[in-house]
Amino acid sequence: MDFNKELNKATDGLMDLFFPRSCPFCGRRVGKKLLCDVCKETLPYCRTVRQGAGFGRCAAPFYYEDAVRKAILDYKFKGQLGGLDCFGSMMAATAAEAYSGEFDAVTWVPVSKKRLRKRGFDQTRYLTASLCVDWHTAPLETLRKTVDNPPQSGIDDAAARRANVLGVYEAVEPERFAGKRLLLVDDICTTGATLGECARVLKEAGAADVMCLTLAMVREE
Ligand SMILES: [Zn+2]
Repeated sequence: MDFNKELNKATDGLMDLFFPRSCPFCGRRVGKKLLCDVCKETLPYCRTVRQGAGFGRCAAPFYYEDAVRKAILDYKFKGQLGGLDCFGSMMAATAAEAYSGEFDAVTWVPVSKKRLRKRGFDQTRYLTASLCVDWHTAPLETLRKTVDNPPQSGIDDAAARRANVLGVYEAVEPERFAGKRLLLVDDICTTGATLGECARVLKEAGAADVMCLTLAMVREE
């Protein structure tokens, strides 16, 4: 009998009992780990920092595909919050790699009051809080969404997406972030229209620089 193997098995069993965590991407039990070994190897990782005219730079741990897409939809629309630790941790690692030492504070793209009432939680604020745990800091509120515009997901055309988000965000107490370099967090980067508009508002309100981070991004064609 391989004692160590047996011991590991027993420990894993206990971990499952005390930390009944599931892989956010496939539902397998993972004990204390953040995701399962299979997903760790096979998820669609995004290894480039995307450049865009409006938003500057955007980094993300994943492409918005396959199991990642499903996990985000489960999180966002079914309120399955079990993956938050995993998502936050992956985003923190990506930001540390892409923007090490380049930002002074972390902020996020908010939802409107109406959407918040309907959904019950601000999914991006939660993601931001989760990734900040790794850095022992707290998110800084810099934006408010003042217009409950139609969701970007229903609009395909890039120009129409930019028009849809134009003027729907306003800066909150800009003196708190004047001269600061901000890491701006959102859940998904599709065309970058939302990030671009938020970055514009933040810079106009005095932010020294804005760089973007999302959980996933749509692959560029
Ligand atoms: Zn998995």
